[in-house]
Amino acid sequence: MTQPDATSRRIKELEVMVADVVVEAPDTTTLVLFTGNDRLEYKAGHFLTVDPHQFEALERFTSFLEDLKGKREPPRAYSMSSAPHERYLAVTVKEERYVSGTTKFPPLLSPLLTKRTTRGMKLVVTGFTGPYTLPPDISSRTDRIVHVCAGSGSVPNFSMLKFALANHPTLRHTFVYSNKMWADVIFRDELERLALAHPDRLTVVHSLTREENPGVFGPAVRKGRIGLALLREMIPQPEDCYVYVCGPGISKFDVDAAREAGTEPQPRFLESVLADLKALGVPKERIKREFYG
Ligand SMILES: Cc1cc2nc3c(=O)[nH]c(=O)nc-3n(C[C@H](O)[C@H](O)[C@H](O)COP(=O)(O)OP(=O)(O)OC[C@H]3O[C@@H](n4cnc5c(N)ncnc54)[C@H](O)[C@@H]3O)c2cc1C
Repeated sequence: MTQPDATSRRIKELEVMVADVVVEAPDTTTLVLFTGNDRLEYKAGHFLTVDPHQFEALERFTSFLEDLKGKREPPRAYSMSSAPHERYLAVTVKEERYVSGTTKFPPLLSPLLTKRTTRGMKLVVTGFTGPYTLPPDISSRTDRIVHVCAGSGSVPNFSMLKFALANHPTLRHTFVYSNKMWADVIFRDELERLALAHPDRLTVVHSLTREENPGVFGPAVRKGRIGLALLREMIPQPEDCYVYVCGPGISKFDVDAAREAGTEPQPRFLESVLADLKALGVPKERIKREFYG
């Protein structure tokens, strides 16, 4: 009999109960999941998946979308916002919106998870996996991690940050976080609390694209997108750090839509940050990325 390898042993289906529902922002909710006595083997940065077929409330909608798209709706991935040393498992989900004339189909699962999931509800999740993690010997490779995130892209970085602050005492972190408005910033209080608790190990800088006067929220709140100038300021020694970038990038749907229109897909957050990091001279092997479509 062949022995399952470490990965297949780690990936399993779990029935979990929603122990708490925390509204992080108008469109973003953290689901705190109670997993019974199961030992949870996951790394900070890993994700789990949720199959939409398990929800009776979505049954008709799922079938309708499957008919329209001509294929089975796949499970959706959600990074853990909890860290492995914490007691509960948690995911943080941002609701996708349907924008008439822009979005091809209404989003299936995220509206249910953010707006219609209540304490006591049971879910089946499959976990845990993903390549977007800190290598165990990270402290011998660098003393500086730069997190560059947009929107719900902060979720795996928040987990890695909490884990590293607790377990890699020589690592210092710079957390550069892009959102539209101040009210959209998830984990805002928790990031501030961590920065106060670790003043010499964590710097948090926000970059807001749609606030007229972001300076009113504090000196660490900048205006605009995360661009080359801000990254140059945040990464004074580009050759020595590790950079973890997570947020929206060009999806295959964007590529198809651009091809149909006879144009090139426009770079999104991920592509533009990766180009800036290259221009700054951060070595390619020191840049880790996670793509949220
Ligand atoms: C590794 C990973 C980790 C992630 N972690 C998180 C997380 O921590 N938090 C979080 O909020 N999100 C996370 N995501 C995103 C998440 O998995 C979902 O993509 C998101 O919640 C949207 O799912 P949905 O079912 O609501 O929308 P979907 O139904 O998937 O629709 C999303 C968009 O895709 C378009 N679309 C869907 N199918 C088609 C098609 N056939 N043709 C053209 N367009 C189509 C829709 O029109 C819509 O604009 C992660 C994604 C990945 C890959």
